[in-house]
Amino acid sequence: MKILVINAGSSSLKYQLIDMATEKAIAKGGCERIGLDGSFCKHKANGKETTITSPMPTHKEAIQVVLDALVDKEYGAISSMNEIDAVGHRIVHSGETFNDSVLLTDETMKEIEGLSELAPLHQPANVIGVKACKAIMPNVPMVGVFDTAFHSTMPEKAYIYGIPYEDYKNYKVRRYGFHGTSHRFVSEEAAKYLGREGDKNFKVVTMHLGNGSSISAVKGGKSMDTSMSFTPLGGVPMGTRSGDLDPAIVEFLANKHGMTVGETITYLNKKSGVSGLSGVSSDFRDLTEAANNGNHRAELALDVFTYSCKKYLGAYAAALGGVDCVVFTAGIGEHDGAVRKSIASDMEYMGIKIDEEKNAHIGDGITDITGEGGKVKVLVIPTNEELVIARDTERLAK
Ligand code: ADP
Repeated sequence: MKILVINAGSSSLKYQLIDMATEKAIAKGGCERIGLDGSFCKHKANGKETTITSPMPTHKEAIQVVLDALVDKEYGAISSMNEIDAVGHRIVHSGETFNDSVLLTDETMKEIEGLSELAPLHQPANVIGVKACKAIMPNVPMVGVFDTAFHSTMPEKAYIYGIPYEDYKNYKVRRYGFHGTSHRFVSEEAAKYLGREGDKNFKVVTMHLGNGSSISAVKGGKSMDTSMSFTPLGGVPMGTRSGDLDPAIVEFLANKHGMTVGETITYLNKKSGVSGLSGVSSDFRDLTEAANNGNHRAELALDVFTYSCKKYLGAYAAALGGVDCVVFTAGIGEHDGAVRKSIASDMEYMGIKIDEEKNAHIGDGITDITGEGGKVKVLVIPTNEELVIARDTERLAK
């Protein structure tokens, strides 16, 4: 079975064609500047990268460019569109309507569109991606895989805020959590790796640290709590997002800067995090270089980030009643040994210790970086959200 995985943003569309026999991507790429001048598609297959420039006024043209690229004689990966058995779409929000991936029918699409209020920037773009795909491939089964669904198992006490209960009942204001496909994937991989599959008592703290970062407490394969919140702005500070703040800061900053509430939220989403803190960059490689050159604000940004992650690790160990395994994943989690070292430092009292040598040599697959005498397994696991989407799509399309 060959499955096309689509991740549609407002002006972009990323894709992977995955052969389920090997679970490997046989082609991947992304269209950018959809709806703008100068749209292009970067396509990779057979070890070659091609840039296709073509007008893409809407997502429909972008999908057509992708399909044409996939069947192209020179740089394609399949001989005809009929080889695509199903399409899996990344959808941001499942609200409280879905707790698993779903087949995208007219009915479920209506429900998904109805959840746009909860993710006004992303959900409409995801829906446009599905509609464009359906228009071009009407007979191919489509599946929606949600960012939030894995967290639907959180207990009430973890997702309810300390505000009037009516706001939850009437407006669905609650913690949802994001990066669900990644937390699910790496926690399952960890259970498999440690021979604890199906063990209801296996307690993992998964740290997805990338441009956006979130940390989850997972017990027996179920999400029990997670740091991102009502929106992906909550939790630890990120590349450009503030993470958790005293809510009164919103009004205070709005007054100081002469901004509306909406503008203040944009400020907290785009101008904050380690980028705003350091004044250098949102990229951890730049921050490390600047810190090494004596830039105090860059060093502070890294400290604020790792300190916040460390606090979540402690909090989630408490919430789970102990922890068997800590997983680092995503761009920073997989590649930044200094960040891992800093988060795990001085936690030997709770059995967390990493081996500096192993931490400095991360392989392609799962790397065990547990230090000698460490009771908690510490693993670095490359995430693969597209594979989760493809697997769910295969399961539901069958
Ligand atoms: P996204 O949320 O966009 O998927 P990624 O998971 O790709 O983000 O993570 C991007 C982050 O990973 C960037 O901050 C980048 O600096 C960091 N990163 C990637 N490679 C390295 C590396 N070799 N060393 C340190 N940080 C890295």
